[in-house]
Amino acid sequence: MSLSIEELASTATEVIETASLVVAGLAAEKERISAVVKDDRSPVTVADYSVQAIVGLHLRDCSVRSMVGEEDAERLREDPALRSEVVATTRRVVPGVSEDEVLESIDSGCHEGGAHGSFWTLDPIDGTKGFLRGGQFAIALGLISDGVVELGLLGLPHWGLIEDPSGGSVRPPGSVCLAIRGRGAEGWVIGSSDRRPLRVADWTAEHPIRTCESVESGHTSHDASARIVEVFSGHRAVRLDSQAKYAVVGSGAADAYLRLPTRPGYVERIWDHAAGSLVAAEAGALVSDVRGRDLDFSRGRGLEDNRGVVCAVPAAHPLIIDRIRELELG
Ligand code: AMP
Ligand code: MG
Repeated sequence: MSLSIEELASTATEVIETASLVVAGLAAEKERISAVVKDDRSPVTVADYSVQAIVGLHLRDCSVRSMVGEEDAERLREDPALRSEVVATTRRVVPGVSEDEVLESIDSGCHEGGAHGSFWTLDPIDGTKGFLRGGQFAIALGLISDGVVELGLLGLPHWGLIEDPSGGSVRPPGSVCLAIRGRGAEGWVIGSSDRRPLRVADWTAEHPIRTCESVESGHTSHDASARIVEVFSGHRAVRLDSQAKYAVVGSGAADAYLRLPTRPGYVERIWDHAAGSLVAAEAGALVSDVRGRDLDFSRGRGLEDNRGVVCAVPAAHPLIIDRIRELELG
């Protein structure tokens, strides 16, 4: 039986809240968490694998089962110590689950994506570097149907929708943001029933512009963003990890999120943008790549036809795209 978008949103919300609480607990004991380095040199931890297992197990009985997830279980099959940590963490939420079920659940994220049918896309810990340094990170789950993001959820254990929406570290449990295409975006503190609509800031060109960007200089060009904002009447930038940046723009705490390519040939991954871009767009932001093209989620596991990302309030977005063209940064 196929579920309605509301039912999918509610089952997805349940697992994102649960996983956020588990990860908030792990983050608090983070001196115990060691990171292993993947082939692409990015770090991965027990939290990344456990969240992918928990989400996969929760969604396995749902009408949409395919998933494009960032992780796979290959390394766990060779590393018994890490594997048993992941199984133990998963069992906190799914008691009695077998080791094989945990590994299979992680490997259920191997879907290739594409333009047809429905699938989930998951970044179990987006911003692993932020997670490891006690900064921002996100559990990001999107639902893509026929190449279009229909549902986006961000679990943000260190982000405070009310306390500190600009992204300074907030104590757990943090917040969740949910967007359904065409129905707006909302956010709430985990555990609270006070859901607030998310709305971008009412920025106009007379105001200084508040931007956000990655902490990692390898993920976005800090120099390029500094040049882009020179034309505005003032500028303040915050740096934070993960798709929390989309929530920061969606909540009105910044006017733009700039992600400017650092090297030719890097293809953005769909799990790094699906959920966040819908949250920001449904809150009223315009989201495109650096040349102003829509993000195309129908091209498989990567945004093959896009370069970088510009997410900004409607009045600022065209000015930023023009400036990128003028500086030949796109
Ligand atoms: P952020 O937290 O904004 O720094 O982004 C984290 C994400 O950046 C990770 O999930 C990676 O998939 C992605 N990433 C890795 N290398 C690059 C790169 N060269 N350019 C842009 N993003 C990257
Ligand atoms: Mg990521």
